[in-house]
Amino acid sequence: MAIWNLGSINIDVVYRVPHLPAPGETLAATEVTRGLGGKGANMSVAAARAAACVAHIGAVGADGGWTVDRLMEYGVDVRHISRLPSETGHAIIAVDQAGENNIILYSGANCVLDSDMIGAALASADHGDTLLMQNETNGQAEAAQMASQLGLKVVYAAAPFDADAVREVMPYLDMLVLNAVEAAQLSDALGAELQDLHISQIVVTCGADGCDHYDNIRKTRAQYPAIKVDAVDTTGAGDTFTGYLVAGLDRDLPIAQAIDLAMTAAAIMVTRHGTADVIPDLKDIEDFKL
Ligand code: ADP
Repeated sequence: MAIWNLGSINIDVVYRVPHLPAPGETLAATEVTRGLGGKGANMSVAAARAAACVAHIGAVGADGGWTVDRLMEYGVDVRHISRLPSETGHAIIAVDQAGENNIILYSGANCVLDSDMIGAALASADHGDTLLMQNETNGQAEAAQMASQLGLKVVYAAAPFDADAVREVMPYLDMLVLNAVEAAQLSDALGAELQDLHISQIVVTCGADGCDHYDNIRKTRAQYPAIKVDAVDTTGAGDTFTGYLVAGLDRDLPIAQAIDLAMTAAAIMVTRHGTADVIPDLKDIEDFKL
């Protein structure tokens, strides 16, 4: 089976600075690095590193050709990534000596996706494939509806959190993945507990506390403790978790095994600095388990 990931592609520009700039201040950076980022791209890389067949649906501008090349190097099918006249989505990140950061995000090409292009991509999907989405592109509700009509499983990572965005896709979801803060926001916004929502499966990640799985069909809730590691950088932990979780389910692993795989990948991820470029592969996971 295949995973179709309707997701963002960003250029992450990280500036090392002595301190975060104050209003009106001009500050010299001591270093700059440019990398592949965006929740969508991270999840595509994670699913590909988990050996899933993953096609990314998205868009970049003329300045983003190298991000598409990078996704391709990781084994992602990039045939449904459009080149648009807008700028590639990007994040300008300032990091000070204490590791504290400021981020300016510009969605660019990610939020002007053409619905015909999304429709054409999904039309080539097979029954039983999975549509994965996050909240960093336009076109989510239409894609969810179409995928569900075509017999795809629909998985939504509710980040960055927006209650209205969840409401729009909710009728079509087979699985919702969100962190503990987003879960509390969703319960508040909908005035309902997670176990009472009309979504078959909900997975709530809780950082170093692991995750909870709500099976709202069987009416069960299972808690999984996190794998103990010395965390140095939790950036991308959630994206790695979700990419691996979906890859595990796509190859028909029982949910407990898919969660175990996802938690192992995320645990390795938090021991590393960086994002897409350091997402572990299956070999790293085997080595970790030895
Ligand atoms: P997000 O990055 O979306 O906020 P979380 O912080 O909940 O997501 O992390 C996602 C998953 O990554 C967790 O469910 C857990 O499996 C793993 N994880 C995160 N932080 C740690 C940690 N300090 N130690 C071990 N695993 C972690």
